[in-house]
Amino acid sequence: MKDSFNFEDVERKWQKVWAEERVFEVHEDPSKQKYYLLEMYPYPSGRIHMGHVRNYSIGDVIARYKSMNGLNVVHPIGWDALGMPAENAAIKHGVHPRKWTLDNVAAMRSQLKKMGFGYDWSREVNSCLPDYYKWNQWIFLKMFERGLAFRKESWVNWCSQCRTVLANEQVVGGGCWRCDTPVIKKKMEQWFLKITDYAEELLSGHAMLGKWPEYVLLMQKNWIGKSRGVMIDFPVPSLARPVQVFTTRIDTIYGATFLVISPEHPMAEDLIAASPGREEFKAWIAKAVAEARIKRGFGDAEKEGIDTGARAVNPFTGESIPVWIANYVLMDYGTGAIMAVPAHDQRDYEFAQKYGLWIKPVIVPEEGSAEDAGEGKAFESYGRLQDSGPFTGLRCEEAMDKMEAYAEEKRIGRRSTTFRLRDWGISRQRYWGTPIPIIYCPKCGTVGVPYEDLPVEIPHDVAITGEEGSPLERLESFVRTTCPRCGGEARRETDTMDTFVDSSWYFFRYTSPREEILPFRPEAAKYWLPVDLYIGGVEHAILHLIYARFFTKVLRDLGLTEVGEPFPHYLAQGMVTKDGSVMSKSKGNIVDPDEILKKFGADALRLFIIFASPPDREFAWAEEGLEGSSRFLVRVWKIVHENLDVFADGASRLPNDPPAGESVGRVLRKMHQTIKKVGEDIEVRFHLNTAVSSIMELYNLLRKDMAALRQSAEGKAALRSALEALVQLLSPFSPHIAEELWEKMGHAEILIRTPWPAFDPALAREETVTIVVQVNGKVRDKFEAVRELTEKELEVKALRLPKVQAALDGKPVRKVICVKDKLVSIVVG
Ligand SMILES: [Zn+2]
Ligand SMILES: [Zn+2]
Repeated sequence: MKDSFNFEDVERKWQKVWAEERVFEVHEDPSKQKYYLLEMYPYPSGRIHMGHVRNYSIGDVIARYKSMNGLNVVHPIGWDALGMPAENAAIKHGVHPRKWTLDNVAAMRSQLKKMGFGYDWSREVNSCLPDYYKWNQWIFLKMFERGLAFRKESWVNWCSQCRTVLANEQVVGGGCWRCDTPVIKKKMEQWFLKITDYAEELLSGHAMLGKWPEYVLLMQKNWIGKSRGVMIDFPVPSLARPVQVFTTRIDTIYGATFLVISPEHPMAEDLIAASPGREEFKAWIAKAVAEARIKRGFGDAEKEGIDTGARAVNPFTGESIPVWIANYVLMDYGTGAIMAVPAHDQRDYEFAQKYGLWIKPVIVPEEGSAEDAGEGKAFESYGRLQDSGPFTGLRCEEAMDKMEAYAEEKRIGRRSTTFRLRDWGISRQRYWGTPIPIIYCPKCGTVGVPYEDLPVEIPHDVAITGEEGSPLERLESFVRTTCPRCGGEARRETDTMDTFVDSSWYFFRYTSPREEILPFRPEAAKYWLPVDLYIGGVEHAILHLIYARFFTKVLRDLGLTEVGEPFPHYLAQGMVTKDGSVMSKSKGNIVDPDEILKKFGADALRLFIIFASPPDREFAWAEEGLEGSSRFLVRVWKIVHENLDVFADGASRLPNDPPAGESVGRVLRKMHQTIKKVGEDIEVRFHLNTAVSSIMELYNLLRKDMAALRQSAEGKAALRSALEALVQLLSPFSPHIAEELWEKMGHAEILIRTPWPAFDPALAREETVTIVVQVNGKVRDKFEAVRELTEKELEVKALRLPKVQAALDGKPVRKVICVKDKLVSIVVG
């Protein structure tokens, strides 16, 4: 049958029209309100997966909706194309990372186009191309000039499988975030970005992120980890300098019965220098250091330590206390040394128990408090001080103030704020990354590559063998260079940047992707930024989002933008699961979007993935649901085709037409209600799934009333309006079929360029009826309710009325009789 729905033809046709007419290419237009919709750009692994399909389908619905509502919508896409998998492919299959990456990009670009996503392809960026990563280097040099990029020797997290350094954020549960290999510690010269300079602002900026999920803000807050407290010096007679300790609980200092320092602490070696067990201790420290940081940090990890034999002086009590080195103290937090208060800190308590150290309680619960000082565990709450010299008897809060002041006065400590956030180590010993644009000259030292020499390109001819160390290091033609300052022989930095640098500012590049003088054109950024809605997986909720916020603030301080927060609204899309677990290769539960496209088409897949659950919830794959969506599209196709005559001219009222029945009012009311509901669901609530169900309801009513409507000219006009609205409302979800039907209806302008339908607020309002309430046959009250409430709903509403309650007078209800849309009669006594 010629009129049957062939999704392949329809989808191909409209993708071509949109491309030819450059429907989604946009330009800065100050006369129009802009809307910047962004989804996290993909890594070109080779094929798109269902997580991508979901992320981009959600975005495309909103972008199309905003565009049809008259906004100047920019919806760009690009490729996060540097990184390890390309190198691993090179090692495994002998294919060059560049070729592997660009082939994958081509394949995925074609897949995205087949999904009908409305991207402005003229803005496509690719982070593995020199015209992109040149600007990573440019930004790096600006940061270097300002002291925001610096080099230092430090302990790093090392994945022996990936043979590279990992940021703390990339260590998940003690393993490498990418391959799960247990992470070890190594001491190396590294480049860092000084994100800690922005710690305070990254935190206070949360005030502008009211449209972020609460839990994401909390994760970021914990990651930044601000705490106020006191920095205290504990003199160690055997050392030249005191050990510095940061505490948020100075009120417990009289209970500090030993000191503990981290194995990485720079004083660790000095402390054991005089000890007879020195060699043994050294081995112990090396082993502890090699343990994964995060694993050690967990409360339930086995606590181990050694007594260095050194003694420190508690500056408040004057007591001599032992100094230990233990695995549960981390160099990354505070100073890497703690005053251990076993009576009031659970971890210190467990450690003291294990090694038989003195546990001295100095805080007791307030009198009358339900708190239990507890046997067998530390009392960590606030209370009153005991055994604390002149501070005994004070409440904790009060004692803290006094003790802080005392420490400052006696010059043994000072008030201080610390952050858990550490500077961002960006050095990677990899090939497929942005070369760090630095030259080491024996005479001039560390010199930035001059801006006019950028980019420092990733050299093409490199042997990628998988041996330890960077392939660039072994490439003499890359390493040997001349010093830009003195012209003498010099060497290039061979580390490349963490790929999270690339994704920290790509949303700026989209605003002017071919800009050649600066990373982006400031006026373009001024028009488009901030991103109005950012959509992406919550796995990036800490790492990527915090880095992108940091870079935005740096770019602002460089005078390139006025925006301080790039993403005022972040929608964390839920995961895609099948058979109860997240789709993954290892679980073997992957559904390939290509297969689905072949079988059901893009429109059905998009509709299903949106309809099956709200965007921020988990989405469980079920093929039956997909079939349902596909059937629905066929039904819409059919009902439009069955009624094509109502779109033809001359459907005006004839003198002997029968009068319109009540179906006209019902259908029109439903139509206006649906337009209102779908708009609010998309724009206000982001309940894209319920928007789809209301479109389905509208269809159901049309199917039911169609025959009646076709009886009169007025009915046909109503049918025509409602079918048009049905197709328009469907278009952001299933755009190809909607365009095709719209054209069949005889419209000259394509649907995506047609304004979104308006609703009449009076008609969209739910029609209400007055319900009379009787008690024992006597009218006691009335109330307004929407039509068609169930008997149970009517009964609940009636029984809540105060006048009815009064009439019941506490007597039991024996019977309730409801007459739909009219009456509730209650029998009591
Ligand atoms: Zn790894
Ligand atoms: Zn030089």
